[in-house]
Amino acid sequence: MGFFEKLKAGLAKTKNAVFGRLDALFRGFSSVDEELLEELEEILITSDVGVNATESILDSLRARIKQDKITEPEQVKDALREILTEMIGEGEPLRLDTTPSVILVIGVNGVGKTTSIAKIANVLKGEGKQVLLAAADTFRAAAIDQLGIWAERVGVELIRHDEGSDPAAVVFDALNAAKKRNADVVIVDTAGRLHNKKNLMDELAKIDRVIDRELPGACRETLLVLDATTGQNAVLQAKEFKHAAALTGLVLTKLDGTAKGGIVFSIRDELGIPVKFIGVGEKVDDLQYFNAGDFVSALFG
Ligand code: GDP
Ligand code: MG
Repeated sequence: MGFFEKLKAGLAKTKNAVFGRLDALFRGFSSVDEELLEELEEILITSDVGVNATESILDSLRARIKQDKITEPEQVKDALREILTEMIGEGEPLRLDTTPSVILVIGVNGVGKTTSIAKIANVLKGEGKQVLLAAADTFRAAAIDQLGIWAERVGVELIRHDEGSDPAAVVFDALNAAKKRNADVVIVDTAGRLHNKKNLMDELAKIDRVIDRELPGACRETLLVLDATTGQNAVLQAKEFKHAAALTGLVLTKLDGTAKGGIVFSIRDELGIPVKFIGVGEKVDDLQYFNAGDFVSALFG
């Protein structure tokens, strides 16, 4: 299966629940009137697109209808598609220009951090980059072992310490190993402790200081992983984390397991942080760079 087919299959639930209804809507109307727009609004709001995002989509749509003198429901559909694509913006690439560069991966427990790290490592390895993983979620031994299994599967090196050790010390060792081996990217797994924001901020600040000291001027991505199946809750999590860390991007996981793919729009609208990767399954190749055009195309079918 190609990338786009995979994306389409992964988004099938959202597509059927949300965009299937849109199709029926546009086929059910023979002219463009306020009633059509109201029904459209309801579909978007009930699809986790979010109230604010829906409002701005409808505003743009009304302006477009007027400006382009749109009279056919099919044309509204095309305009909507364009507006949605513009709204989520182009996928911003990772900035990994220095050797090594660092990717910090954060997020609450269970959202898919460790799995996404393996998948990202796999993507980067496929681009010819030498990747090294740092097991800085030292909270549970099982978390370290889980990353170890993935590292072996993907074929990248893992730097690990024992359970309960200092995450910043793991990062220190990983950065130095990366320098020694001329590795391109170090990906750091972290523990998801949102229940204590101060703890999280202290830990991230400490890791940041280690990176500043060991790799001054290195490119650094801080990716927040969000579980799409949690819908608007994911938006709230992102708002919390935005206060605790300088986020450079989002990884949206489990889009295959939910009809709530509409949250991509509400996240973009409310947070202004680019989605850089999306996860559409549990296997190592079930993650791809986020591309607005492909995403919207997959939803509209
Ligand atoms: P962490 O606690 O944030 O490190 O989360 P894990 O990486 O351990 O993942 C938690 C669970 O989510 C695991 O069972 C993963 O297989 C699953 N998972 C992660 N990403 C995806 C995805 O894109 N789709 C699906 N269906 N499951 C996922
Ligand atoms: Mg984990």
